[in-house]
Amino acid sequence: MKLYYDLHIHSCLSLCAEDDMTPANIANMAAVAGLQLIAVSDHQSALNCPAVFEACRRAGILFLPAMELCTREEVHVLCLFEDLPGALSCSDFVKKRLILPRRNASISIRQTVMDENDNPLYDEKAYLGAAADIGIYDVGALIKSFGGLAVPAHIDRPSHSLLSNLAFYDPLMDFSACELTKECDPETIIKEHPELSGMRFLKNSDAHSLGDISDPVHFIEVPDAKPRTILDTIARCPF
Ligand SMILES: [Zn+2]
Ligand SMILES: [Zn+2]
Repeated sequence: MKLYYDLHIHSCLSLCAEDDMTPANIANMAAVAGLQLIAVSDHQSALNCPAVFEACRRAGILFLPAMELCTREEVHVLCLFEDLPGALSCSDFVKKRLILPRRNASISIRQTVMDENDNPLYDEKAYLGAAADIGIYDVGALIKSFGGLAVPAHIDRPSHSLLSNLAFYDPLMDFSACELTKECDPETIIKEHPELSGMRFLKNSDAHSLGDISDPVHFIEVPDAKPRTILDTIARCPF
């Protein structure tokens, strides 16, 4: 079974995403675009995943709960989960480890948690733009302990990425897949970083607006559509 995917999309829980990145809008736009599988990966939080899960069910597409972790080194890591309880437990774990800057407590920020009908429930108070006190060498095992898979995000990007912030990939970090930006050629990056050979690569939109959600370009081949099978396929199968 071929699943066209976009596994890196931000909702209105992320400060940097547009206001209309609501659960139902994202699910409906992905379905109209022709995608079969999406993940919503907000910075440091999975709190909008329950609503997007239901919106995707209604829109008839598959959904993986996710979040985009920002490590102590300010490296972004896409974290994909098998189920909502795992994602929400991890989200809670990360929230307790945010390295929060001092700021005026009276300033309100738009980090909206919604229900599946796009009704705002509340604004998350913890500043999700902060890094978490979790090191890059610990991320893989940590996310696995919540039933998930950690994939360093947009590793070829000049900021907040494994290669920009650390300059190299150390196999001891123990990742089996990495995300590349749309423009990045896997062969070129392996030439520049031979330590990445054998790595599986994903390409996603990192959409912050509805128009940025991917067209059906990138796909995975899976024997069935169970979340566990999808995660195992991303971890094991070359693209
Ligand atoms: Zn990022
Ligand atoms: Zn992102």
